Amino acid sequence: MDSSPAHSRSPYGGVIARYGDRMDIRSESGIVTLLEGDTPLLPAPRLADHVAPGSRLFLKYEGLNPTGSFKDRGMTAAVTDALARGAKSIVCASTGNTAASAAAYAARAGIRCAVVLPEGKVAHGKLAGAIAYGADVIPIRGSFDDALAGVREVCERAPITLVNSLNPARIEGQKTAAFEVVETLGDSPDWLALPVGNAGNITSYWRGFREAAASGDCARTPALLGVQAAGSAPIVLGQPVERPETCATAIRIGNPVRWKDAEAALRESRGRILAVTDEAIMAAYRLVAATEGVFCEPASAASIAGLAEAVRQGMVQPEGRTIVCVLTGHGLKDPDVAMRGSVSEPESLEAAAERLTRLAEAR
Ligand SMILES: *Cc1c(COP(=O)(O)O)cnc(C)c1O
Repeated sequence: MDSSPAHSRSPYGGVIARYGDRMDIRSESGIVTLLEGDTPLLPAPRLADHVAPGSRLFLKYEGLNPTGSFKDRGMTAAVTDALARGAKSIVCASTGNTAASAAAYAARAGIRCAVVLPEGKVAHGKLAGAIAYGADVIPIRGSFDDALAGVREVCERAPITLVNSLNPARIEGQKTAAFEVVETLGDSPDWLALPVGNAGNITSYWRGFREAAASGDCARTPALLGVQAAGSAPIVLGQPVERPETCATAIRIGNPVRWKDAEAALRESRGRILAVTDEAIMAAYRLVAATEGVFCEPASAASIAGLAEAVRQGMVQPEGRTIVCVLTGHGLKDPDVAMRGSVSEPESLEAAAERLTRLAEAR
């Protein structure tokens, strides 16, 4: 546990050290941090040529957080708050990243953690994290939504703290990503695109931008572009999806808990929400890695696929605009998707040398 002062603005102390004075959480038992946040806002001009020509496009690379996703911003807040309230254990239902993050912060705090996961639908890098950090990993037959319903019920009767995005501290922690975007750009972007699963993150960004504007850190707020996967698009369709399906497992959620908050964020920001196919997600996933050298997980690439689609439909006019795509998780989280169909048979050394020569001579 870290006993650094909660109100210093050192960039090295994690998001509570930097922004704790703007976060509505308890921290009297000390701050639990892995020095999350302070992630790069990378200019992406080559990607912009493909998806949003004429724009100033940036990638908020949240995959560089300690456990590889933005969930760490919320988890430092949720676990710090839980500790102050005397919690001895935490639990979450998860598509993977919340589980890995909760497990790591629980280990850091010295409390127990259980994670309930939809069996067979969790990317291996996420599961590996949860196991390595020593969580009690409980796979269930059923979806994320089933897992969450089960966990919520238990938390109503047992002394165990729920750290899903229902937990208000999660939102308080995650809003710090908006503060960072504003600090780096000196203002809000015109558009901020992000994937939407349980809708905690879109809720958090909107709160962050609103608060930054209210305190005079930026002159305006951005329009939010929410993106769902076509097989898992309850908010776009206006009704829960019984059996959500998508290769973007982090947003494979049929009944988002922050649905109402997401609708408010979209309405108040004059934003839009749309769905993209798995094919479009995978194309964006490969494109951002190949054009910018940035490796994100499929759910994260939905933000880029969604931006490309919004530009195509005329929803977003890119010319002269500042646009941020949030890359929510690291590509190494889902190695199986990255490897799929791409490993070739071994070749002879001679054949390899021939290939290298052709490559060197190619123009
Ligand atoms: C959790 C997660 C999302 C979805 O965020 P919500 O707050 O559930 O909408 C998107 N991408 C990744 C990588 C995630 O881990």
